[in-house]
Amino acid sequence: MQKLKILCPEPENFSEKGLQLMASIGHLDAVPLSQQDFEVMAPDYDILAVRLQLHITAEIIHSSKKLQVILSPTTGTDHIDIKSAKDANIKIFSLKGENVFLESVYSSAEHTFALLLSLIRYIPSSFDSVKRFEWVQGPFRGHELHGKVLGILGFGRIGKKMAHYANAFGMDVVYFDPYVDCCEGNALRLTETEEFYNRSEILTIHVPLDHSTHSLVGKKEIEMLPRDAFIVNTARGAIVDYSALLRALETEHIAGAAIDVLTCEPTLNDIDLQLIEYSKTHNNLIITSHIAGATWESIEKTDVFVIEKLKDWLF
Ligand code: NAD
Repeated sequence: MQKLKILCPEPENFSEKGLQLMASIGHLDAVPLSQQDFEVMAPDYDILAVRLQLHITAEIIHSSKKLQVILSPTTGTDHIDIKSAKDANIKIFSLKGENVFLESVYSSAEHTFALLLSLIRYIPSSFDSVKRFEWVQGPFRGHELHGKVLGILGFGRIGKKMAHYANAFGMDVVYFDPYVDCCEGNALRLTETEEFYNRSEILTIHVPLDHSTHSLVGKKEIEMLPRDAFIVNTARGAIVDYSALLRALETEHIAGAAIDVLTCEPTLNDIDLQLIEYSKTHNNLIITSHIAGATWESIEKTDVFVIEKLKDWLF
């Protein structure tokens, strides 16, 4: 029997153990590729293994005669053209819906909370100032979390973990999620969006990106937040209207934002570039490069989980 051919075009985003496991399944080509080169090479493979750097487009799927499996150890799958994959009978192994396993993965919630603290205490800009041999406090006077209301949009795995962390900091927690009704982490469910946004002094976003959540947080929603609110988005860039976010920062309607995701990753579009430009001269916008889920622990754990599922299916 011919060996299965596996292409991993972003090996730097996988663990050693994950790559070894893939190599035990078939012939593995683990080479960093640009999207363009990936599109040229992909049609020759039975299995494509990606994380978030590269997109599996309809074109790749249509041009592939051999493709059987797409493997992506991620919860979000919007970098894969799911419809085309399903139409072509291609099996997808991801973390989407693997709720029991995902309970043991903490990286994204921890990074979200780290971003929140960094933002309200101006940690990155204070450190930048120290690197210039300055030792001042005035520009970096921050805010306390204690007693503030955290509004959680999307009360799934990460949203619920955020509620527990917020409780430990003495925050009040409200959430909006039409599909969940539970009181985990002393969080109060609000069913009216207006009341939810009105009460959220800090808004943190944890919904998946799909047609119903695209631009879910737009100008209207941002304007419903209390003046001087903070926004944290580690879900997906396109869930927030970033033009409206930038405008709210410029007009000081909100006090700050911390984001781990941009609209058009990894190439970046005009508004992504404008946000980065703004962050160079303002200390109330922090941007990280989609690293919330990326810890040594979580990458290895999720690689092994998804590849073992693939092995069970194959053999
Ligand atoms: P999850 O599926 O456990 O929870 C998502 C929640 O959103 C669900 O409870 C769902 O009911 C709710 N929801 C759906 N539509 C909604 C709407 N219109 N309004 C309010 N709530 C809505 O997902 P999760 O594991 O908590 O992750 C959330 C998202 O975070 C993922 O889909 C992914 O895109 C993103 N993520 C990013 C990183 C990163 O590295 N930055 C890492 C992991 C996940």
